[in-house]
Amino acid sequence: MCEVTVLFDGYSKKFDDGTMDANCTCTLIKGLKLIIVDTMTAWDRERIIEALAQQNIEPANIDYVVCTHSHADHIGNNNLFTNAEHIVGRSVQRGTIFSENNDILLDGYELCPGVKVVASAGHTPEDVTVLVDTTKDGEKTRFAITGDLFEKEEDILSPSIWKSLGLPEMLKCQSRTRSVIINLADFIIPGHGPMFRVTDSMRKIVKSQIIE
Ligand SMILES: [Zn+2]
Repeated sequence: MCEVTVLFDGYSKKFDDGTMDANCTCTLIKGLKLIIVDTMTAWDRERIIEALAQQNIEPANIDYVVCTHSHADHIGNNNLFTNAEHIVGRSVQRGTIFSENNDILLDGYELCPGVKVVASAGHTPEDVTVLVDTTKDGEKTRFAITGDLFEKEEDILSPSIWKSLGLPEMLKCQSRTRSVIINLADFIIPGHGPMFRVTDSMRKIVKSQIIE
């Protein structure tokens, strides 16, 4: 059975001058493989090493690094994990060997039982989401680690949050993909906010926000 641990909650704050203070959510999945999802900024190296050490994990133990997309605040410490396969968006890299993984676009790329990477284009065309099937408090539970497809829980009631951060030409796509993914998930771990439990009313709201 897989265990999902959020090592760092992401956040984002906008300033009046148009700049932003933001860092991404960094998540550890412990199953038959050890997987880290989104590696924050290059300035977070020591914090990540320390957070893993608290779980008795060394960077060399990590089997897969998944980056939900390739923005700088999601890939900053990939080079800590040189024993891992790196999945950045839809591209897969091991050492100097690069491949596109078509499973990501179809049924999903299974990293180990209970964990798969699926395409979820929206914030960027290459976005992926990690789906984790496990049990929580004795109940079957599915976590969706979405990157910036969902910026934070608040963007459900205030869609201007995600709309202002994505590419204008991707807004329609993002609105559709958000509805697909929220229908698959019991909990969402968004790109820049704490994990939240999905409710039926959230699913309805996100569906009503689909841009035709
Ligand atoms: Zn981000």
